[in-house]
Amino acid sequence: MLTDDELLALMTEEVIAHEAPIEMVLRPLSALHLAGLLQLALRHPGTREHEDAYYVAVTFLEHVRAYFADAPATLEVLRRGDDPAYDGGRRQPPPDFPNSRIGAVTLARLRAEVSAGAGHDCEEWWSMGGRCVLCDRRR
Ligand SMILES: [Zn+2]
Repeated sequence: MLTDDELLALMTEEVIAHEAPIEMVLRPLSALHLAGLLQLALRHPGTREHEDAYYVAVTFLEHVRAYFADAPATLEVLRRGDDPAYDGGRRQPPPDFPNSRIGAVTLARLRAEVSAGAGHDCEEWWSMGGRCVLCDRRR
């Protein structure tokens, strides 16, 4: 069994050996999901003490906000993501979301993607009328 120090030393060697940047492309919705998780993580006690990790997270969030600079509703959701009053892990959309313009457009596009074969985890999506909002599977 490795000690924490031994494990850290080995990990440091491995990370140094992997110096090529990690490149990835995120769909906008995936970037928002990740932004939400980072916003929660940034409020965790002690997060700011890890300056490198904090800087990466804040920079990622700045990029997501810049990407959505022309999307005021999305920016408002991101703003609320920084406000602990909106924490709660609610899996239900706001009551007016499916009927809102952004909700209707988003749901229609995602449902079309699922209908065309895109995968999703029903448990990660809202249900309406006891059915997954993306595939209508009974929940
Ligand atoms: Zn589903």
